[in-house]
Amino acid sequence: MMSAQEPLAEIARVFRGTFVHSTQYAAVEILEDTVLGVDIEGKIAFIARAEEVARLSEIWGFKISDVKHLGKHRFFMPGLVDTHIHASQYSYTGTALDLPLLQWLNTYTFPVEANYKDLDFSQDVYTKVVIRTLKNGTTTACYFATIYTDSTLLLGEIADKFGQRALVGKVCMDVNNAVQCYKETAGDSTEETNRFIRALLKRKYPLVRPVVTPRFAPSCSATLLSHLGEIAKNNDLHIQSHISETKEEVSLVQELFPDSESYADVYLKHNLLTDKTVMAHACHLTDSELTLFRETGAAISHCPNSNISLCSGMLDVRRVLRHNVKLGLGTDVAGGYSPSMLDAIRRTLDTSKALTIQDPQYETLTFEEVFRLATLGGSQALSLDDRTGNFQVGKDFDALLVDPTVPDGPFDVFPKEDTKVILEKFLNLGDDRNIVEVYIAGRRVVPFQEAM
Ligand SMILES: [Zn+2]
Repeated sequence: MMSAQEPLAEIARVFRGTFVHSTQYAAVEILEDTVLGVDIEGKIAFIARAEEVARLSEIWGFKISDVKHLGKHRFFMPGLVDTHIHASQYSYTGTALDLPLLQWLNTYTFPVEANYKDLDFSQDVYTKVVIRTLKNGTTTACYFATIYTDSTLLLGEIADKFGQRALVGKVCMDVNNAVQCYKETAGDSTEETNRFIRALLKRKYPLVRPVVTPRFAPSCSATLLSHLGEIAKNNDLHIQSHISETKEEVSLVQELFPDSESYADVYLKHNLLTDKTVMAHACHLTDSELTLFRETGAAISHCPNSNISLCSGMLDVRRVLRHNVKLGLGTDVAGGYSPSMLDAIRRTLDTSKALTIQDPQYETLTFEEVFRLATLGGSQALSLDDRTGNFQVGKDFDALLVDPTVPDGPFDVFPKEDTKVILEKFLNLGDDRNIVEVYIAGRRVVPFQEAM
């Protein structure tokens, strides 16, 4: 209990209704008839049973008449965390899914990414991807951009303008034999990464941070990888890349880095496997590589739509969790054809069920577990769980107001259904029509009127 002398932050909003989130102990915790207060800094000031509202209003100095009631069936859940998305591939999302990874990169991806030298083109696509993901409830996104620094800075600017929490990465690659125009020298890549980090940090965006981004080992020389490891270490920065997406890629890495014991060892040797690292895919990691992930605190971004769409593999999430490796979900636009994290939830469940078809003894993931991976798990994978991921006092209020009974909505609710049933329906059948409001760090960013 706080003493009356302690200065309390001013309360900006108080909500009363149902809150659904995950904790360390419960994959889904449902808090019915609860009040939650958000202070003017956008942080959760209190969360308590509604009968305490009078006492809370005295302590915090808000008017009970200002409390916003959510209404029947509506609930708040934490914002969704997309731990892996290529903003620069958004323009062709939903197409070009007929080739395996390495050919897919050469045929579709590199030629498109080369267009981002053009800032008008960048502005158009990056605005659309930020709007689309926000509408779909992505409050935190870990973005790959392209090799072009100014265009990548523009992505940071747009995320900031719309209020999205984002890690933004200028892609680094000095090896590309297929599309010669789309690569840098190791020296330029290092210099531009330094310029990108300095420029982005100088802008002091409250929710947007740089992330060191080697595309993946086959696109980077050992020299470049070691420079990037150094930059991340010296500046205490996040790192993102890809690992073991396909078997063909694993063999290629073995050929390119014969002195390394494994794919994970390539990154480890270059200081790129840290507790602020998130690696996408990891479908084909060995047990000893997973042990390296646990020991270093590096995380995995599971991108099931992409893994199935490009026929890359099926990550055994249960095995990763048993190794105590941090794991979040990602859309991997455009290898994944949906920018919605609700789709990532569904494809995670589908993949787990496909593994169960292959082995009936397999312990299939539950929808509750996958809900946690998409929210709290994602924040842990990005080492942002001190700021976001669930409704804990002191964290930022990153939340979706879900209305399961929105007119012309995508599913129906029947009288005896409780919140857990409705949550399951929303995760399996809901879409952006149900996400009526989105808050990030206490600011309402959807509907968009206030943000524009
Ligand atoms: Zn990717």
